[in-house]
Amino acid sequence: MDRRRQNTLLIDPGARARVWCKRCGAELKDTVSRQRQLGAECDPEPRTGDGSRHDVDQDPIPGL
Ligand SMILES: [Zn+2]
Repeated sequence: MDRRRQNTLLIDPGARARVWCKRCGAELKDTVSRQRQLGAECDPEPRTGDGSRHDVDQDPIPGL
């Protein structure tokens, strides 16, 4: 049990591998940016989970 606790201490969430934006080189702090290696300003893909998605209700295609 103590050993597990030490492992937790070794993994400092504030000192994880640093990731920088592939385009502008800014350091990425949020999870989505780190995964994509693109900052929010440089990422062409819409983000999920930030409340600013551009989802459009799509009508079912007639005839199907
Ligand atoms: Zn960038």
